[in-house]
Amino acid sequence: MGIESALPADMFLTTKLNNVINWSRRSSLWPMPFATACCGIELMATASSRFDLARFGAEVMRFSPRQSDLLIVAGRVSIKMMPVLQRIYQQMTEPKWVISMGACASTGGVFDTYAVVQGIDQFIPVDVYVPGCPPRPETLIEGIMAIQRIVDEDNIPRDPDGKRLPLQIAVAPTHTVREQPVPLTVGQN
Ligand code: SF4
Repeated sequence: MGIESALPADMFLTTKLNNVINWSRRSSLWPMPFATACCGIELMATASSRFDLARFGAEVMRFSPRQSDLLIVAGRVSIKMMPVLQRIYQQMTEPKWVISMGACASTGGVFDTYAVVQGIDQFIPVDVYVPGCPPRPETLIEGIMAIQRIVDEDNIPRDPDGKRLPLQIAVAPTHTVREQPVPLTVGQN
C-alpha cells in the first residue's frame, strides 16, 4: 500500500483490535456469485475492467461457499433451485452477507408463476436489495458499499438471542438514463 514509505521507520501505530478486524473484513469481502439469469451478466461487468470491483476489495469471486462471505443472488430462482441456494448460504462462513440483485431475485420480477420464488427473502435473510432489471454495475457497487459501511461500524444487528438479523437495506438507483436515441458520433470530430 506504500504506507511504510509515508511513516518513519521507528514509528508505531495503536488501534483497537476490533477496528483492524472490521477494516480487514470490509476490505476483503469474497463474493459467492449465484447468477441464474441476465442479472449475472451485469454482475460479471461489475468485476470487469470498466467498473473494476477490485477498487472495493470485493473482486475475488469464490465458487466455494466455505471461502465466501458475500452471497450475491443475481437472477430468478426457481422453487426447485431454492434448496441448493439455502445449502450454499448455510455453508458460508460467518459473518456473512446477502445481496439480492435485481427484480427477479427480490420479487420474482415479471415471472409471476408457481415455479419461480417470489422473493428470496422468504427463504434466506437478505441484507441489501439492489433494484433494477437489470441493475447497473454502479448500483450493485452501491449495495456492496452499504455492507462495507455496516461492517466498518461493527453494526451487525442481532436479536436478543444473538441470532443475526437481516439488514434489509434497499439501494436507491443512482444512474440517470440518457435520452434515447443518443446522437451518433462515429466518424465525427
Ligand atoms: S431482473 Fe431483469 S435482468 Fe435481472 S434476471 Fe430478472 S429479467 Fe433478467
